Amino acid sequence: MIVERIKTNIRKEAVEITSIVAKHVKGIKSGIVVVYVPHTTAGITINEAFDPAVMEDVLNEYMRLIPYSNKYKHLEGNADAHIQVILTGSSITVPIEDGELALGRWQGIFFMEFDGPRNRKIYIKIIEG
Ligand code: ZN
Repeated sequence: MIVERIKTNIRKEAVEITSIVAKHVKGIKSGIVVVYVPHTTAGITINEAFDPAVMEDVLNEYMRLIPYSNKYKHLEGNADAHIQVILTGSSITVPIEDGELALGRWQGIFFMEFDGPRNRKIYIKIIEG
């Protein structure tokens, strides 16, 4: 398993990590790559990487739907982040063909930070076949 480290800079942030994943699948003729986030307040998703306004809209809507608040029972002060991760998910799977991620033209892989800034990890597992 490959471990990569991601440093986030603000509390809510979508960090595009497509190139970090892509460099590990070079030379793989065919297979899948699983990218897993081993955290409870950060997740991972795939969405448009062309217009940065898309992920800004996504983060703004997450904050509107699940606001930072003291109404929650979890006393650490980051319950909003825990809930936002459940909506996002903790792993993605992408097909690999001829050494490249088989992403759509506009797609990118985003590490979703909901309780930064922090030093984070992602696990990358490649299965050939
Ligand atoms: Zn917490």
